[in-house]
Amino acid sequence: MFKKIKYGKIEVRSQTLVLFSAIYFAFILNLAFWRYILGHVQINNFANFFFIISTAISVVSAFYIFFNLIIVPFAAKPLLSLLLLFSSIVNYMMFSLNVFVDKDMMRNVFETTTAEAWDLVTIPGVIWVLVLGILPAVFLIRIKIKYLSFKKELFSRIKLIAIAIILLLIQVPFFYKSYASFVRNHSEIGHLLNTSNYIDGTIKEIKTRLNSNHKFIRLDENPSLVLNDDGAKTVFILMIGETARDANFSLGGYKRNTNPFLRKEDVIYFKDVKSCGTSTAYSVPCMFSNLTRSGFSQSKARYMENVLDLIKRAGYDVIWQENDEGCKHVCDRVTIENMLERKNSPYCRTGYCLDEVFLEGLDKKLMNIKKDTVIIMHTMGSHGPAYYKRYPDRFKIFKPTCDTSDIQNCSRESVINTYDNTIVYTDYIISSVINTLKKFPNLESGLLYVSDHGESLGEKNLYLHGMPYAIAPEEQKTVPMILWMSDNMKALDYINYSCLKSKAKDNDYSHDVIFHSLLSILEVKTISYNPDLDIFRSCRTRRFPY
Ligand SMILES: [Zn+2]
Repeated sequence: MFKKIKYGKIEVRSQTLVLFSAIYFAFILNLAFWRYILGHVQINNFANFFFIISTAISVVSAFYIFFNLIIVPFAAKPLLSLLLLFSSIVNYMMFSLNVFVDKDMMRNVFETTTAEAWDLVTIPGVIWVLVLGILPAVFLIRIKIKYLSFKKELFSRIKLIAIAIILLLIQVPFFYKSYASFVRNHSEIGHLLNTSNYIDGTIKEIKTRLNSNHKFIRLDENPSLVLNDDGAKTVFILMIGETARDANFSLGGYKRNTNPFLRKEDVIYFKDVKSCGTSTAYSVPCMFSNLTRSGFSQSKARYMENVLDLIKRAGYDVIWQENDEGCKHVCDRVTIENMLERKNSPYCRTGYCLDEVFLEGLDKKLMNIKKDTVIIMHTMGSHGPAYYKRYPDRFKIFKPTCDTSDIQNCSRESVINTYDNTIVYTDYIISSVINTLKKFPNLESGLLYVSDHGESLGEKNLYLHGMPYAIAPEEQKTVPMILWMSDNMKALDYINYSCLKSKAKDNDYSHDVIFHSLLSILEVKTISYNPDLDIFRSCRTRRFPY
């Protein structure tokens, strides 16, 4: 099989390499896929046992056909090396963190910042990729692949591909029922098949980017402010949470006191708010868009105005303060302050800043308000897996903590402790912003906090987020939403606050309400406003638009 030739290079026949690669990719680089199959098919009868054997034959055959097509002179080594590298990384992510890889995940990969990527680099991860990806690639580069003559090689390939196809054709129909029912009940299985999942996701993502209609849609040429002569300047702060889940907020019923600061404030906590997506790249553009979750697509939203455009055109100063992974084009046409540029801030480390950076200079900003202003604070929140990096030492309240990105090697208890510390810190940041606003009673001020998506912390053995929405667990989809209003804002906006409080307890809301509720509370009159999605509407003493 392997032959040593004169000058010490190992010689491998092309056909041996094709078969070996097919088996290696089908099994070793697909550990997550097989764990899933074995976890969902009970081997308690012959039918299921043979279904698993059939699946193995099908996967190997498919890879065998694929490698017969790409293992050709000149292309074999570079292509195979790249596949080994990427597939071993994906294999590690899927196996250790239980993530599924699809188009949305690939979009996240493309839009990830360097600092975030570094957070994912862990020692076991590096060893895994080194052993299963890089070393085989080095071996591959050093060997000599021996091909037959062009004609012979071609005929042998055609023959072998035909055999693989026949193998697929004779046994898949035999188990057709099992395949059909398995795929119907576990449609996410395709996202676990390593190599095809990320290639497919990447192609789909590129297609979306190329195909999207580049004609930019403006929503309303003439949005206007109603009652803008009330004397007080409006300052509204919209805080976008990162990876904060409702399940860990004591304001939402969590048994631990993770909201020690906000508990003392007169805030409204909205129960059971559903996020639009399970990732930042999906949820953030969605919550600012008027498309609603059912009509939303990232490519549509990319070439369309969002609520910030309307607010700005109506006359507000709109400032987007960025401390996360970018605004996903939502802030393309408003003022941007990138917190990472505050190099001298005591809250900034290499590549990221603690959310306290938002408190720096906020006093001064409020003191100098000359115009109605909306500030969006895009927080770092509870961004994982490096939860321990999200808060300063004094917020190490729940212990022991998991002080590594390698969360699957920590006890579940310590992962939850660390995550809960990020929530207490977020609680502190929100209440500090509220208390800063309170120092300026002459302003008509308010704050809305809402998280982009939730997080899995080991429930059903799942971690992080980004699961396809249809099968994502509640923990990834239910997010905290918190409102605070100054007395000035309650009065000038005709808001019955206790009415809102009771509505927040009884109604189920979603990210769909943000677009229209913002227009409403900021008193922007526009044709894009939909009263049915305005959380304030039924609690106003005067009907909006006035
Ligand atoms: Zn996020």
